[in-house]
Amino acid sequence: MASDRLFTFRYGRSTEEEDQRSHSGRRIFLATNLTTPLVANQTDENSQTPPCSVAGLVLAAAVKNQRQATYRLRTLNSRATESNEQRERRIHCNALGNQTRIGAETFDARRNRLQLERVRQGTFRASNWLYLKDEALHYDPNLDYPNFPQIVIRSKSSKCTFCGALKFEAEASGLCCSNGKVSLPELPQLPEPLKSLMEGNHPKSKEFLTMIRKYNSSFQMTSFGTSLPMLDSTGFMPTFRIQGQVYHKAGSLMSLPNEEEKFLQIYFLGNEEAEAKRRCTLIPGTTKSLIESLQKMLHENNHYVQKFKMAIEDNPTEDLQIVIKADRKPIEGHERVFNTPALNEVAIIIAGNDFEKRDIVLTKRSNELKNICETHISYDALQYPLMFPPGEDGYTININQVEPGTSNQINKMVSAMSFYAYRLMVRSTENHLLNYRQLLHQYLVDMYAKIEAERLLFIRLNQKKLRVDEYIHLKDAITNDSDPANHGKLVILPSTFTGCPRNMHKYAQDAITYVRHGGKPSLFITYTFNPNCKEMTQNLTNGQSKTDRHDLVARIFRQKLIKFMNVLVKGQVFGSVKY
Ligand SMILES: [Zn+2]
Repeated sequence: MASDRLFTFRYGRSTEEEDQRSHSGRRIFLATNLTTPLVANQTDENSQTPPCSVAGLVLAAAVKNQRQATYRLRTLNSRATESNEQRERRIHCNALGNQTRIGAETFDARRNRLQLERVRQGTFRASNWLYLKDEALHYDPNLDYPNFPQIVIRSKSSKCTFCGALKFEAEASGLCCSNGKVSLPELPQLPEPLKSLMEGNHPKSKEFLTMIRKYNSSFQMTSFGTSLPMLDSTGFMPTFRIQGQVYHKAGSLMSLPNEEEKFLQIYFLGNEEAEAKRRCTLIPGTTKSLIESLQKMLHENNHYVQKFKMAIEDNPTEDLQIVIKADRKPIEGHERVFNTPALNEVAIIIAGNDFEKRDIVLTKRSNELKNICETHISYDALQYPLMFPPGEDGYTININQVEPGTSNQINKMVSAMSFYAYRLMVRSTENHLLNYRQLLHQYLVDMYAKIEAERLLFIRLNQKKLRVDEYIHLKDAITNDSDPANHGKLVILPSTFTGCPRNMHKYAQDAITYVRHGGKPSLFITYTFNPNCKEMTQNLTNGQSKTDRHDLVARIFRQKLIKFMNVLVKGQVFGSVKY
């Protein structure tokens, strides 16, 4: 979690502004209240006082306000009594009138109208923040600052019109479903006993949720590893940390004669008792009765386990090969197609050489471990059987985007980022993926590695489009050593790739440029986040603690940061801000 972010800004106040300070902040607020009775007292007077003095100006404004209030009241009364038909006719006439007016206006008139509208909106927005100006320098302990409307974060107050995801008010409209372009099938309900275990209605729930990663490891069909050693996680470690490249590997369907069964092989022992015993031996600390009930659930519900078992039983030969297709395409006319591929069904083929590069090919017996491509549709379901008990589809490169508001597919693909952003949102019902605690952390890290791998692949394949040969360091290298062959095959990461050296360099340059143009910063602020805040506690469900929901921490931190920056820049609590 990036809890520390640094922001610099500059503020300054001239003496003239100092003089005007008495008109700012709460005092303006009070003055506005004071004018109200004045307006009320003037209601009966048909005043013609020329607006030649301050009092005259106030009086003229009061008369204007009164006239507008009367007009508003008359409109409200007439609308309250109109029928549906009259209302529709009025709206239609208004729309026609507006259309004609806008259609007839000249280019200049249109530009002026839009400009005025922008100014009006800007003034309106600025007036909302006026009462916070210089407030940090005149702190009043009697004021309830945390409950100021501009500071409060309303809990999941906005709902996406396309997918129904609940979001915080300042979250981007495309965060959940890329503005309606991503539409995925809903995940089905969890089968029993997993559902009760997850919701805390099972006597062993607490133990299960505390050791959820161990329980998942007992059932995973592939192994999880990284190219560099896993980071030390002894002691209290609320986060899941890895370094290097993530890989999932799959072994053969059956173990070699002199070896013990592992991962997927355990499912085919053929004896429930032996299976559970083997799982408990491999992952110590788990409860055998719980393992048995979960194992039964997976045998009854998981498509992969069922299809693999069927394939092994029907093909007792030793040279059996099972192919799990990377993308779920309908396979027509193949004589040895095992099942009719449908949604959430496993496309398994028992065949010779009919497979593509990304397909998973499982042999019956061998000691070879095969890498699973991270864009394989079964990547998630094989590694996280307790998160996806029926074996739901994960991300693959061939998911089409849809036209917003319809289900018509368009010729653009959904990215890994959009896919998982969609999956992690809370919609009308609870999202069970968010309840998996430590396992959720592993899943998020694993899927983020997938997102980054996709981005890196794009960069590697689009070096020409990114014009990397124009980059100065490469140019320098070629100038100093004229033989380009000596430079190997370089893949240059552009500065848009977060965390790469070029990206860091860009930020350092920006910071220096700010100082050059605006002078030294007046304040240096470190913004940290308290995960015990009320926004966190309001959104935690099913007995979760704050360390179980890093996704929520990240989202609320972002909301708080936006509010904080608004208070500094729009509210000008330390005075006007230069940058
Ligand atoms: Zn949405």
